[in-house]
Amino acid sequence: MSSETLKLASDLIARPSITPADEGCQQMLIERLEAIGFDCETMIFGDTTNLWARRGQDRPVIAFAGHTDVVPPGPLDKWHSDPFTPEIRDGVLYGRGAADMKSSIAAMVTACERYLAQTPDHRGSIAFLITSDEEGPAVNGTVKVIEALEARDEKIDWALIGEPSSTATVGDVCKNGRRGSLGARLTIHGIQGHVAYPHKVDNPIHRAMPALHELARHQWDQGNKFFPPTSLQISNINAGTGAHNVVPGHAEVLFNLRYSTEIDDAHIKQTTQAILDKHELDYDIDWSLSGYPFLTAEGELLRAAEQAIQKHAGIETDLQTTGGTSDGRFIAPTGAQVLELGPVNDSIHKINEHVDVAELDRLSDIYQGILENLLS
Ligand SMILES: [Zn+2]
Repeated sequence: MSSETLKLASDLIARPSITPADEGCQQMLIERLEAIGFDCETMIFGDTTNLWARRGQDRPVIAFAGHTDVVPPGPLDKWHSDPFTPEIRDGVLYGRGAADMKSSIAAMVTACERYLAQTPDHRGSIAFLITSDEEGPAVNGTVKVIEALEARDEKIDWALIGEPSSTATVGDVCKNGRRGSLGARLTIHGIQGHVAYPHKVDNPIHRAMPALHELARHQWDQGNKFFPPTSLQISNINAGTGAHNVVPGHAEVLFNLRYSTEIDDAHIKQTTQAILDKHELDYDIDWSLSGYPFLTAEGELLRAAEQAIQKHAGIETDLQTTGGTSDGRFIAPTGAQVLELGPVNDSIHKINEHVDVAELDRLSDIYQGILENLLS
């Protein structure tokens, strides 16, 4: 293997670190980072191993952020090679975590190694925020590390997350924000009884339908330059006893909103409750907010990344906010600029996950270019 990035990515893939296991991945990173002057701090919360590594005392702080855990491989007989035995075929590296996101972590480490060999006296600080629980419940990972940093007033100015953001070639897409995610469990109460005696029942399904129709059709906002319009999707409706002749006593509905920065969760809750009240429902509603929306519309990090991508990949990057939530939701509320930039994502979480070998070095060069642009 010729490339240092390929070698480190392969060593990481060889460790079967299914969430929340780390399987020694972070220890490998610690050895590499300590050798180039980082102070490394392992933070264990519950079942999750996290790493906070920092080189330098001053601000600004650029933090590379990512996760060593991977999703389960699924049926092994569908894989063309063992998911935890990295294998290169026709210039492509295969293995669980190849794209999401052990290659990014390897590229971050080698970018720092080259950058520091050339610029040991950079301004500010370089940090790594690595967790082993991004793919799982994500309660003992990045969110807890950020809490610990905030408690001692340690700030991140720029967070560069290695999530696989690219579509066709590395750097063609960066994520400069993500939508918020707000879920609700709605219980509509009625009066159970025999279908033959409609005057003695209060049918919660009949009551729910017009209200749900109005919720589903409601225009929450128009979105903006970076976000599509907010959307509400009903994901579950449960009611009934299984019998034809019984009107149920209640109906339960689950729905979720992916929302833009044009609106906030308080406004969504108010509007929803106003619609339900208008339909005179007797109901309970439990909300769960799994991520605030965030957006880095402009700033030094964005400019540094755009420039480095132009220089090393020869393309203009496209900024997007699509996709699920990411750990950026925990970092952005501290005031940090947040950007996600990583390899092509078409095989993530799939059988035969892979990454183009040539793109590993390009990604590492882009990360190094970002360091040069921000800290030199
Ligand atoms: Zn990931």
